[in-house]
Amino acid sequence: MQFDAAVIGSGPAGATAARLLAQLGWSVALIERNGFPRRKVCGEFISAATMPVLEACGVAGDFLALAGPPVHKVAAYAGDTVVEAPLPHAKAGWGRALGREHLDVLLRDAAVAAGAMLFQPAEVASLSRQADRHILTLRRADAADEICARVVIAACGSWNTRGAFAVTATSRPSDLFAFKAHFRGGALADGVMPLLAFPGGYGGLVHSDGGRVTLSCCVRRDALGRAREIHGGKAGEAVIRHILASTEGARRALQGAMVEDAILATGPIRPGIRARYCDGIFFAGNVAGEAHPIIAEGISMAMQSSWLLVQRLVADGPAAGPNHARAWKRQFAARLHAASLFAWLAMNDHSRAAAAQLIRAFPSILTWGATLSGKSASVMSPPGSETGIAVPMTPPEPTAQNSVRLWLGFGAMCVGMFMAILNKRA
Ligand SMILES: Cc1cc2nc3c(=O)[nH]c(=O)nc-3n(C[C@H](O)[C@H](O)[C@H](O)COP(=O)(O)OP(=O)(O)OC[C@H]3O[C@@H](n4cnc5c(N)ncnc54)[C@H](O)[C@@H]3O)c2cc1C
Repeated sequence: MQFDAAVIGSGPAGATAARLLAQLGWSVALIERNGFPRRKVCGEFISAATMPVLEACGVAGDFLALAGPPVHKVAAYAGDTVVEAPLPHAKAGWGRALGREHLDVLLRDAAVAAGAMLFQPAEVASLSRQADRHILTLRRADAADEICARVVIAACGSWNTRGAFAVTATSRPSDLFAFKAHFRGGALADGVMPLLAFPGGYGGLVHSDGGRVTLSCCVRRDALGRAREIHGGKAGEAVIRHILASTEGARRALQGAMVEDAILATGPIRPGIRARYCDGIFFAGNVAGEAHPIIAEGISMAMQSSWLLVQRLVADGPAAGPNHARAWKRQFAARLHAASLFAWLAMNDHSRAAAAQLIRAFPSILTWGATLSGKSASVMSPPGSETGIAVPMTPPEPTAQNSVRLWLGFGAMCVGMFMAILNKRA
């Protein structure tokens, strides 16, 4: 079977790329290893900045009908600090959260409705090149298929530990393990998305679909070990007890709430920028680059990166690689750096205390941080691209401006930390 494009992975990045290419008339194979619906470790929040991409995929209406309430406030819960601030307003309104068992099905079905051929469950087991064609071997439960494509888009996430798209690194005490739980009940106010900062980790809470509250978090390997020693039980239970024991805001928000379904765990996660193009293969979503989930922007970046890639492919065809790699970096690198800074500030005991003091004094730092993380950014259109995808676009804030803000913020935090240490000594 011959296709213009083969897309590996039907998460937000892959399904978006498959839908947008298929609706432009490309023949597309969409290959997904797991059966859907499936739950996934994720905070499930999607920024309003991604609404134009959801619209382009034809799922904006269903998304709004299913998702949780609009989120218009950000909060910080760290120790006994509980501070709220407005989220920056994006042109498309407010972000919302939707369970991955719903979102990923919506996006996959949208790709199929536009004409993509779905191979699911089927795993891309090997990949080779013959002249200007890629040959993909698909492994299914009962058979193996071979398909051939002019363009390959790897959108297979960052959790592969083996094979051609493995994201690996040596194990360290600072490795982050990720957890997700759905709660029913509790007292989290509608419209607020708290950021949790606790010893050895960070996380978030948000109202998702069907009245559920999603808690997602990342915990350092060494802190996880300590939490298990102190609180006992399975890893996920120990982490939730650790958060409740150390974070007043989380205690209040989840008072009386019950965990629904199993607590999911994965990791270690590997935030960072990776290859966006290599040897004729285009990378989109988490496999290309992953921000610390503290900014809750991974789904948005995955969909936005596919949106950018499709524009590039339509403009330049298979030769789009270097331009795609540059456009990706221009659009997302500042967000990844900001996320790393916020993650470090949240997890380090001194900086967390200093940041909490600063945020108590200046809650608008939270609004500014959300802006920096891309909550109101617009998706950039590469110059000269004519895609025929009718979506309003405005230029993003210049990266240089973002960098200056980032370093100003970093400087302010350093001063805060220094003052906190002096206070401690006095
Ligand atoms: C704790 C935590 C909280 C988070 N919270 C948020 C949040 O609130 N908001 C947000 O925007 N982001 C959040 N994220 C990030 C978000 O989950 C990811 O960025 C997003 O899922 C990336 O999408 P993707 O399409 O690139 O990859 P994935 O969603 O991982 O999808 C990849 C797909 O590829 C398939 N696949 C892999 N290999 C193969 C193969 N060889 N053959 C066939 N199929 C294959 C997989 O089965 C999978 O379905 C969070 C992440 C974590 C860890």
